[in-house]
Amino acid sequence: MLTSIEGKTCIVTGASKGIGKGIARVFAAKGANVMVVARGEADAIKAVEEITAAGGTADFYCCDMSDWGQVSAMFAKTAERFGSVDIVCANAGIFPQVKMVDMDPDDWDHVMTTNLKSTFLTVKAAIPYFEKAGQGRVVVTSSITGPVTGFPGWSHYGASKAGQLGFLKTAAMELSRYNTTINAVMPGNIYTEGLQGLGQDYLDTMSASIPLKRLGSVEDIANAALFFASEEAGYITGQQIIVDGGQILPESLEAIAEI
Ligand code: NAP
Repeated sequence: MLTSIEGKTCIVTGASKGIGKGIARVFAAKGANVMVVARGEADAIKAVEEITAAGGTADFYCCDMSDWGQVSAMFAKTAERFGSVDIVCANAGIFPQVKMVDMDPDDWDHVMTTNLKSTFLTVKAAIPYFEKAGQGRVVVTSSITGPVTGFPGWSHYGASKAGQLGFLKTAAMELSRYNTTINAVMPGNIYTEGLQGLGQDYLDTMSASIPLKRLGSVEDIANAALFFASEEAGYITGQQIIVDGGQILPESLEAIAEI
């Protein structure tokens, strides 16, 4: 049983859908005050309604996590609303699929800005609040795609997700002076609105290639994030954990067929 995060304030970016919404739900169920962050208001409101209907405490703030001014304002609003910022889950991200031959240089910039620059902006904005609190936790949602695996159409995405892990190493050193840890969860294929957008064929093929024979749930990722956010994980920093049902393990199609 992990020490409770009850009463802590947690910002979850990209929490109106998918993995972020799962993290927000699980953290709120453990008693944290959760700030749901996304660009679109309707889904953010829905996420907050679901959390409060289940007895949790949450509010929402709409902003683009790749814009420094908006990110800073979101942190200020969260501290004003809940009194502190204790845990930050840098989860907002996009995964448009386009092969390099068709990729416009602006496509590359858009993915890197949304996924990687936003991670830096989120952590930078959090520093004064962690300094004030005397401690802090950051959990980054990276991916197996990029750091471990490849997939046609996701060269920019994979670079952004591997980049998050590169960022993490130095960030962990710089954040240590604020008694703050930063770690990453690396999901495999998780059943989210974003993944559903890739089509049923993709979902079926992926499930078949995973040793545990199912896509991950958002709770699978949220529980790993919860561990990194806990008191008990306080001596772990600059690290990552793969949560993928064994997806990266098979050496070949034969290996998966043998199971
Ligand atoms: P999703 O279902 O598409 O949800 C993405 C969330 O991020 C939404 O709330 C979206 O809301 C928000 N968002 C996107 N761009 C934003 C921006 N610029 N500023 C603020 N919020 C933004 O995606 P998901 O599948 O849950 O993925 C979440 C994270 O997990 C991503 O970082 C992704 O790379 C990572 N991941 C996912 C999987 C998977 O299998 N699903 C696997 C590995 C890693 P708005 O559009 O309204 O802003």
